[in-house]
Amino acid sequence: MCLFCKIVKKEVPAKVLFEDDDVLAFHDINPGAPTHVLVIPKRHVVSLNEVGVADAELLGKLVIAGRRVAEETKIAEGGYRVVFNTGPHAGQSVFHVHMHVLGGRALSWPPG
Ligand code: 5GP
Ligand code: ZN
Repeated sequence: MCLFCKIVKKEVPAKVLFEDDDVLAFHDINPGAPTHVLVIPKRHVVSLNEVGVADAELLGKLVIAGRRVAEETKIAEGGYRVVFNTGPHAGQSVFHVHMHVLGGRALSWPPG
């Protein structure tokens, strides 16, 4: 079972912000910004490369959960970024699809 599936099952501890039947939002263990939260589907999906139209509702729920993260961590007004690192060039290191929500400081663009 993958690391994030273990976090879903509470076999690995995490600082959970909120969850529902479909998604889980928890703080990144190695934050890259004052707010750095990961939003994942509870169902195991490897990466964005594996999703299709059948996953449209789930992906919509992830993005809407990202908005809730921004509101609850009070970064919505200041601005924030949501990122799906996908594959080697993006440095994906955990192969259970996850959306980073980053904010709380000015973020440079484009990424390095
Ligand atoms: P990726 O590099 O795949 O886009 O992002 C994986 C993220 O998961 C990284 O930002 C990393 O810090 C985070 N991460 C890795 N292991 C753990 C863990 O055990 N707990 C939590 N909360 N985050 C983790
Ligand atoms: Zn998984």
